[in-house]
Amino acid sequence: MIALVTIAGITLSLAGLWTVLPDLWFRGLRRQVLWHGPRDVNRVALTFDDGPHPVDTPRTLEILARHDIRATFFLVGKNADRYPNLVREIAAAGHDIGNHTYNHRHQWSLGPIKTVQEIRQGKEALEQILGKTVEYFRPPWGMFNLLTFSVGRTNGKVVLWSCTAQDWQISDAAAIAHRISTTSSAGSIILLHDANGVFGTSAPMLSALPLIIADLKQRGLDPVPLRHLKQSKAK
Ligand SMILES: [Zn+2]
Repeated sequence: MIALVTIAGITLSLAGLWTVLPDLWFRGLRRQVLWHGPRDVNRVALTFDDGPHPVDTPRTLEILARHDIRATFFLVGKNADRYPNLVREIAAAGHDIGNHTYNHRHQWSLGPIKTVQEIRQGKEALEQILGKTVEYFRPPWGMFNLLTFSVGRTNGKVVLWSCTAQDWQISDAAAIAHRISTTSSAGSIILLHDANGVFGTSAPMLSALPLIIADLKQRGLDPVPLRHLKQSKAK
């Protein structure tokens, strides 16, 4: 009995070391990750996760182009392999591209080898299509296991967010826009989704996006890609 309890205790401790502790450190306490830009410059970064999507990504690009805005897209490798032309289109329009792993698997469900594979495969898929280095990485749902950060960092910056509106769940565009408006400020990294794996459509986000952009501009906040978020105004 004592042996069983000991084994259970060790197993639980190891599981916690692999999942809860790193997640608390990087996601909970936001240590070592880029989750917010400088607060003294009136810039924010719009970031779009989970694409490319054959319908909703082009629509997102259209809206951004209409407002002359550059953003950042965190792409899932398997979607990128399916729609490589969209990946090139995003880059050609001047947006930044980040790695969002190959299969969008939850990091807690992965062992060490799979963790490395998921991150590397995602990066390689994008780099093969783009012919250049991908400098940003965001883990699915912003979740970490013990290896996620160190493997992700070899690709550049590990990026989370400071502001989101659960646009994959909320169907009311005005509510999404309102939520972004009330929780964003100078330096915010805003999380949205141009592909929705849960409910299958990003229509609410697409309706909300023009409202979000209008509100940011009206508040004097300039949406920029991540590479410009950290630059001072003088540059
Ligand atoms: Zn995602």
